[in-house]
This record gives sequence, structure tokens and C-alpha cells, in this order.
Amino acid sequence: MKRDLSYNRGTMTKVWQQPLPAIYRELSEAELRLRIESAKERLGKRLVILGHHYQQDAVIDFADFVGDSFELSRKAAEQRGIEYVVFCGVHFMAESADILTDPSVRVILPDLGAGCSMADMANLDQTLEAWEQLEAVCPDQLIVPITYMNSSAAIKAFVGEHGGAGCTSSNCRNVLEWGLKGGATERRSDGATKGKKVKILFFPDQHLGRNTAFAMGYPLERMVVWDPREEMGGNDPQRLAEADFVLWKGHCSVHALFRPEHVDEVRRKYPDMKVMVHPECKFEVVQKADLAGSTAYIVKQVEAAPPGTQWAIGTEVHLIHRLARQHPEQKIIVLSDCQCLCTTMYRIDLPHLCWVLENLVEGRVVNEIRVDEHTRKWATAALERMLAIKGTGNPIGKMQPVGNTVD
Ligand code: SF4
Repeated sequence: MKRDLSYNRGTMTKVWQQPLPAIYRELSEAELRLRIESAKERLGKRLVILGHHYQQDAVIDFADFVGDSFELSRKAAEQRGIEYVVFCGVHFMAESADILTDPSVRVILPDLGAGCSMADMANLDQTLEAWEQLEAVCPDQLIVPITYMNSSAAIKAFVGEHGGAGCTSSNCRNVLEWGLKGGATERRSDGATKGKKVKILFFPDQHLGRNTAFAMGYPLERMVVWDPREEMGGNDPQRLAEADFVLWKGHCSVHALFRPEHVDEVRRKYPDMKVMVHPECKFEVVQKADLAGSTAYIVKQVEAAPPGTQWAIGTEVHLIHRLARQHPEQKIIVLSDCQCLCTTMYRIDLPHLCWVLENLVEGRVVNEIRVDEHTRKWATAALERMLAIKGTGNPIGKMQPVGNTVD
């Protein structure tokens, strides 16, 4: 069915990666390192390089800050007097950095092909259709959209404009609690929403949504999955109306590789080993694990563990190998031998980094990521609401359900 979905969608344009000049492919690693060092030195305090935990070590060596996507965007926003942020991560992260930094700061992604398969699973047209259909099926309910950081700026803006908030894997539970009370206060101030049942529409990672809602005490029967390629998201209208959580059918192609059998295998081989996984993993994997939490949580657990601790970790392989190297006093292995590497992150390499930096030295900004004004305004609203929500939360743990009607 074709609908007229009139909506201010901003003016963002997608730019494609131009071929890397051949010279950068011909340089040795040693030459690339020297040239990157030299460009960094010449750019001095005008430049900040951010490196996501999942980047390869060679790139991390040049990062001024290393962290997860949100930590890094905040770091960028805290810097004063900088002109350029080179974000060694993926597209949505560079967008978030552009949203959170001063408009004068220019954010650069070394390879524009570095996208995120999860973020690409929810686009604005699909979202507008889903919203219209949900509102038709649940006319007496208040639908609060919540989006994981791993989504496009356009989805964040839609969420901000419709009374919702962003979330990270660290604060997802706190944001969901806030959403279940009705979301943005300005939406509730006129009393029109009083007493209404609240329904969460969660983008784009069904697993983070399911794992967190379940840990909050909601049974799986209270959740439905929304498949954007199907009418009504592939749901029966009554079940849709009754659900507390509508989970967008998206997933991370890296974390989805871990399976419950991998946990069983580790338990069999290493009875003393603790299994720790990211909440983007499937429900069955999280249920079998000892601990589940965000990238920052996983790093903290390892840093705080005593020598001799044994871990099987279910997340991106570059981070696990780095943790293993940094903590030889512990035994750290990947939960499975599947190729659990983020191939899009992996597109950021020394040749691309060298190319963007040397262009900056010459006064040319290549691969800039710019978010238009409308999108920036509402995506900022979604992110600011998230920041205003109290508590960072231990992502996965037992809790009682909170009420979900508007006070
Ligand atoms: S690890 Fe998964 S969620 Fe993270 S950037 Fe890669 S595909 Fe996206």
C-alpha cells in the first residue's frame, strides 16, 4: 500500500566513498605510520581522533580517545577549540558526533563505506509507515519511540520529534522505564494522555529491546516483533494492541553469530570460565550467560577482575583480543570461533586515515559527515532527554516491572 507520508525529513544526502588514491595502497605500514604521525603533529590541537573499541589496533594506536560510540561523541563535544573530529568508527557514530559537537566542528569518517548493518535495518519511510499503522491499531494508547544509538540521525530525529529518547546499551533499562511512564513530559503536560496505556516502539535492535525488557520483568508474550517488510509488521492487530513492547526487526550481524551452543561448549570445556556477552546477542545466549552488558561494562568487568579470572566473551573480536593482550594475568577467549568481526568498522584502516589527515593538512576536508538543521534539532532532543534520565543502570539484571500507564 502506498501512503502519502508527509514529514519534514531534512536534507541529508548520502555521499559515496571515492576511490582511495593508489599511492596510499602502495605505502608500507611503516611509511603510513610516519605520515600519519607527521600529519597529526601539524594539525595539533585543531584535531581529535576518536577510535571505537572495535577498531583494529593499528588505527587505535593513533586515537586520542578510545571508547564506545556514545562515550566518544561526548568526548568530542567536551573538547574546546578543535576544528576537526576524525571518527574511526561507523557512519551513525560520526553523525552523532556531528549532532553533539559545535556546528563549527567538522566531523570526518575516513571511509564512507563504513556503515552499520543494524542501523541500516530501520529507515525513515519504514518508520513513518509503522507509526501510522500502530496509531491506527492503538488509537487509545500512547506510543513512545525509543531508539538505540546504533541508528541513523533521521531515526533519532523522528524519535525526538515524537516524544521519545535515545538509549545506549548501558542505560537502556533506565530509558525504557522513563518511556513506560509516558516519555517526554511536554507531551503529557496538557493531561490529554492521562491514564493511557503506554506502548514502546523500540528501534532498531530487537535483541537489546527484548533482553532489557525481560530483565525488567516483562514476559516475552508482552513483546511483538515489527517486520518493516510486512503489513502491520507481520502482526495480528489484537496482539499488537495488547503488547507493551514493539521491537523493530533489526539485529547486529556480528553479535547475532553467537549461539546458545557456544555457551554450552565453553561450559563443557572450561567449567570455571565465566561467560559474558553483549546484550545485542540473542535472548537464548544472554539467558545462558553469567553476565551481559555494554561494551563499556565488559571492559570494566575485565579491568576489575582478579588475576586468574577466566572469561569467554561474546562481542566483537578486536575488542576481545585487545583485552586479552592487555590482561595476560587473565584467560580471555572469544565465546565462539565464528568470524565475529565488524567488517564495516574494519574498512577504517591506515591508508584511509592517512588520506583524510593529509587532506586536512592541505586545507581540504574530505568525507565530512553533516547532519541538516531539522534532523540535528530533533535528534538532539532525543539525546538530551536520554542524558537527563537519571542513572546509568546495570544493563541486565532482575527487576520488577514498572507500571506503563501515564500518571
Ligand atoms: S558491531 Fe554490529 S552494531 Fe556495531 S557497528 Fe558493527 S554491525 Fe553495527
